Amino acid sequence: MADRVATQTLARALPALPFVGGDWQERATSQTFDVIDPVTEGTITTVTEADAATVDAAVTAARRAVDGDWGRSDGTERGRALNRLADLVEARADDFADLESLDVGKPGFEPRVIDLPQTVATFRHFAGWADKLEGRSIPTAGYMGRRTLSYTVRRPVGVVAAITPWNSPTMISAWKLAPALAAGCAVVLKPPEDAPLTSLLLAQLAAEAGLPAGTLNVVPGRGATTGNLVIDHPGVDKISFTGSPETGRIVAAAAARRFTPTTLELGGKSPQIVFADADLAQAAQGVAVGIFANQGEVCAAGSRILVAREVYEEFVARLVELAAGVVLGDPFDAGTTMGALINSKQQRRVLQYIELGRSEGARVACGGAAPDRPGYFVQPTFLADATNSMTVAREEIFGPVGAVIPFDDEAQAVDLANDSAYALAATIWTTDLSRAHDVAGRVEAGSVAVNGWSPLDPRLPWGGSKLSGQGRELGRAGLDANTQEKTVTVVL
Ligand code: NAD
Repeated sequence: MADRVATQTLARALPALPFVGGDWQERATSQTFDVIDPVTEGTITTVTEADAATVDAAVTAARRAVDGDWGRSDGTERGRALNRLADLVEARADDFADLESLDVGKPGFEPRVIDLPQTVATFRHFAGWADKLEGRSIPTAGYMGRRTLSYTVRRPVGVVAAITPWNSPTMISAWKLAPALAAGCAVVLKPPEDAPLTSLLLAQLAAEAGLPAGTLNVVPGRGATTGNLVIDHPGVDKISFTGSPETGRIVAAAAARRFTPTTLELGGKSPQIVFADADLAQAAQGVAVGIFANQGEVCAAGSRILVAREVYEEFVARLVELAAGVVLGDPFDAGTTMGALINSKQQRRVLQYIELGRSEGARVACGGAAPDRPGYFVQPTFLADATNSMTVAREEIFGPVGAVIPFDDEAQAVDLANDSAYALAATIWTTDLSRAHDVAGRVEAGSVAVNGWSPLDPRLPWGGSKLSGQGRELGRAGLDANTQEKTVTVVL
């Protein structure tokens, strides 16, 4: 791990510009925005925002790539390019990890254990799919007494707009880019204004990997300006969005005007259900990781901790002990296990939710405040004696705050788990095999994990329903979401 100063130097050396059609775009008239370090509160760098002309140029360049050599290329060739990109990202994994720590505030080990291995694995996984875009042959009854041959082919959906959030910008951009590029689409990536650095590095590497000009375009900018220009552009054929439900609604409304297909990965209020028969030590560890990883700024954060009443007090005590072991600090210090939240607004929002929990009757079992130091830190917090109707159990907090709610029996646990506006992920802690499968089947969530929190793998489809969004990323479903199936019937 490099130190903060070296990483700042690396960040400032990146071209802080839109990347369009294979070139960095310098436009004197463009607005800029500052990227703020969540730990020092200083400015890391200032980035040029993509304006209307730049977004238009990006969509045009992407269209040219889809209609040209890239869209028509053999899948083997696309697979090779994606593998080259994976190799380049892997070779620079430490730089990516350091930039992510600087930009997002997450402790140095996290991007090395999660984000970067997942990013590389995602590019490799979809490199393998690129030459397997197969159609189907479908027998039919024929046409006016004549025999027919019907088959389908999978075509790239076209120009994909990928809009990413700040919590895991490297990994989530790979989730969007890799399947789109494997399918022969070209991408306009709008990275988060709070954490755009690794997307700029990715653009540099895409060019090095030999992706043809226009295949990947990166248009940094704020949501209300550049983001809006991207989703409103008539040349965009698909929008893949990860972010908040509020912005998801704006994206869906823009998409509805042209019936543009969308994949929406929105937030969550994911339950972690701890049964009395669970290995409580293992469960407590897992539950704590599930709410404290990435400072709780995770869409799948297990923020509703449902615990069997007979082990409730014991379990809360275990959680409090684990929280006491969390080391809040500079992501560049080796001992740090939790970093800072992304910005002052997020810090204020999380602290307000803690106050709301208190005023609605929850007991702050630990944490509950910001430490007395610069940076957007919030202490790891458990709100005990919470109920599922409290605001802290209903709304996504996106911070290191877990509401711990008791339940009396299995039926109530499932009812509480499903009594939510969200349905992204769920975790079940039990040693009873039948109960594990049974409850996994009854819980409303796109992904259920038993005795482990949210295992990730590019082979496993990812996504939710209700306010958590629609569609799936990753795996075969993620590839198909970037294609159109076309039917051809030949009357013989
Ligand atoms: P956000 O919705 O504010 O922003 C997400 C992205 O959308 C950013 O790039 C932003 O610039 C852009 N954007 C904002 N307004 C826009 C507009 N009007 N038009 C187009 N683009 C616009 O979300 P965030 O604060 O960056 O991320 C936090 C949220 O994301 C949380 O709610 C979290 O649960 C969710 N999230 C979900 C997943 C998932 O996989 N389901 C993963 C990570 C984060």
